[in-house]
Amino acid sequence: MLTEEYLQRLVDQCLPAARQGKVASYIPKLAEADGNQLGVYWMEPNGAGVGAGQWQKRVTVQSIVKVAIFLQALADCPLEQMTQKISLNATAETFNSIVDLEEKNQHRPLNPYINSGAIATLSLVQGGPGQRFQRVLELLQALTGNSRLTVEEEVYRSEKATGDRNRALAYFMRSTQILSEEVEPLLDDYFRLCSVLVDCRDLAAFAATLAKGGVDPLTGRRCASREHCRTALAVMVSCGMYGQSGDFLVRTGVPAKSGVGGGIMAAVPGRAGIGVIGPALNATGNSSGGMELLARLAQQLDLSILS
Ligand code: GLN
Repeated sequence: MLTEEYLQRLVDQCLPAARQGKVASYIPKLAEADGNQLGVYWMEPNGAGVGAGQWQKRVTVQSIVKVAIFLQALADCPLEQMTQKISLNATAETFNSIVDLEEKNQHRPLNPYINSGAIATLSLVQGGPGQRFQRVLELLQALTGNSRLTVEEEVYRSEKATGDRNRALAYFMRSTQILSEEVEPLLDDYFRLCSVLVDCRDLAAFAATLAKGGVDPLTGRRCASREHCRTALAVMVSCGMYGQSGDFLVRTGVPAKSGVGGGIMAAVPGRAGIGVIGPALNATGNSSGGMELLARLAQQLDLSILS
């Protein structure tokens, strides 16, 4: 087991990188976050763990929830059917890009971890509006081993009031028959899911569950099949960090998923789940302190799954 002192040193070394980033402001409420915050939690396959820095401070999960949406959709809809609507390939554009949707891939979102792809994936989760939110929330609670996860209402309202970019993506997808349903109730579920509060330990447990093939290390409960976890992890490798997925893979060699709240979860099969939170982001929308911390950790502990 790593020591708290070791992790704390790492946090301290990565604070300058965090200070180079900027907190997200396109969702107005996120602009209130503290850009100097940085924390990490390391969880082993038996659920034992250690945290350092401000690991207990919560942020909204944002795009990291797309992995839970994808897992729920995989449970509800055969992959071959899903890939008629959403493919599983990388993008070099931003997470809320419109151009990809219009020009590439016969209007299908390129992958389930960009906004268009996550909204389309959510539409394949069984249940009507409201029920989809509830089902994915319950899956997220199971994956994190934390049944108390709830929505931060102010962030939800802030994104709902300003989320026109996502509305544009969703209406475009209706025009191309990727979506067939009402946009607003679907987006309401999506905005609520992005606004669930998590800390570093929740993210570490989520990643540790994926690393264990779907069994939560804290509760011992199976939340997803091994095959679905492999699929979700494979897409994290190629698409989890948006246009920086390749750079990140070279630096760390581990599957990871980021969110604009500043969280990143990284899964190291057989070794650990890691949760990092640093709300200051780089230009791609990934936590700048968090990326630096994961790169150093992966190099120092030889975490790469690639060799
Ligand atoms: N809720 C955010 C959005 O839809 C999620 C994006 C992200 O975390 N990259 O824009």
